[in-house]
Amino acid sequence: MSLAHLEFIMKIEISELRGGVHYPLDFRVYSDDLIDDNHELNGRIPDEGLQVTGHLSLVNRHEVMVDMHITGTMVFECARCLQPTPYQCDYVYHESSEINPSLEALDIIPCIEECLYINEPFRVLCKPDCKGICPGCGVNLNFEECQCHQSDHSDDDDGIDPRMEALKKLL
Ligand SMILES: [Zn+2]
Ligand SMILES: [Zn+2]
Repeated sequence: MSLAHLEFIMKIEISELRGGVHYPLDFRVYSDDLIDDNHELNGRIPDEGLQVTGHLSLVNRHEVMVDMHITGTMVFECARCLQPTPYQCDYVYHESSEINPSLEALDIIPCIEECLYINEPFRVLCKPDCKGICPGCGVNLNFEECQCHQSDHSDDDDGIDPRMEALKKLL
């Protein structure tokens, strides 16, 4: 990643937005560009990055309207089997952003991160009929036969207190 690329997307000079200019956005954002303090996006941004298009316009002296469209293939864990699963994202973002007065520039990265956070899909499945992981032996049931079906786990773990079991024997 060239520094020039980073500088460009990190800070957009507010002076460029004066006079009703619609400042165009058209670039790719990569995992390295993101701050991602909570590591929520860790591993979810593909190597080829995500495409950001749209434009910025000045609302007033303190705010910039960010009109953004983010597309690309993110990677999420399947909710059932935890396999990395491609997810086609197609997110629209239309929010005003405060201008940091000391910078006189807009940092677009937090807007991109916010867009990715708020649009996070509730549940991604690798396929609609994903069989998930066996809670007994831990195999991915899409690829392997369960290893524990002969020994019936339900008896080991039926929630009965062993002391109660002992008591039952006495009765
Ligand atoms: Zn799955
Ligand atoms: Zn099993």
